Amino acid sequence: RISNAFNKLWDRYKVLDASREEFVANVSHELKTPLTSMKVLADSLLMQPDAPTEIYREFMGDLSEEIERENKIINDLLDLVKLDKKGANLNIKSQDVNELVERILKRLQPLAAKSNIELVFESFRPVTAEIDEVKIALVITNLVENAIKYNKENGWVHVSLNADHKYFYLKVADSGIGIPKEDTDHIFERFFRVDKSHSREIGGTGLGLSIARNAVVMHRGAIKVYSEPGEGTTFTVRIPLTYIKREG
Ligand code: ADP
Repeated sequence: RISNAFNKLWDRYKVLDASREEFVANVSHELKTPLTSMKVLADSLLMQPDAPTEIYREFMGDLSEEIERENKIINDLLDLVKLDKKGANLNIKSQDVNELVERILKRLQPLAAKSNIELVFESFRPVTAEIDEVKIALVITNLVENAIKYNKENGWVHVSLNADHKYFYLKVADSGIGIPKEDTDHIFERFFRVDKSHSREIGGTGLGLSIARNAVVMHRGAIKVYSEPGEGTTFTVRIPLTYIKREG
């Protein structure tokens, strides 16, 4: 019986180890992509010391974009690592959730305006909850940013907040491109992106939703997605109003 238990543990360890290896491989790949572009851009400039100013500026602009991209990946990775340390470092405080959502939407308004997207917030009642403000802010920001990014010109994003005696419910609905049925199970995985080439154009790391899910799970909540390809996507998040500390 002991060897049976050992085998089980060993199998679990192997799965964990394989997923860690895959994670490191993915991270290295993602970090190297912008670096490769930066190297090409810098080398081309070095090889043409007399390049006209316009070319010089264009290359520097591209270089700056790649640096920005690298920075975003590293920031997302840091968020993810922080959230992976189970439960221990949640900074739980009583928080006005309406105020938090409003603050985040105000910050994202310019991004929506750039694509002519109407960003609407509907609040059904006052909500105060025991949450880690920074981590729930990551959830809201990632969902609303995605709803704007994967939308259509002149589209809309509707955010709503409701609550009952036990939970608050955040809904982020968009009129965007939607997610193919076969991909909805995978979008919360690290680095997963629907249609790599299109997503690359839009810009992102494939980490946003895994960060969001980790943060929700740490609060003993749930996150779900409903999507109709070509029509739009709705994410729903349910978080307990009172923080439940895990036993042991
Ligand atoms: P990314 O940095 O690529 O946006 P995420 O983890 O936030 O990474 O999302 C994973 C993928 O899920 C995205 O690349 C995109 O293909 C898809 N996705 C996420 N949100 C939406 C949405 N609101 N509408 C359509 N597709 C979405």
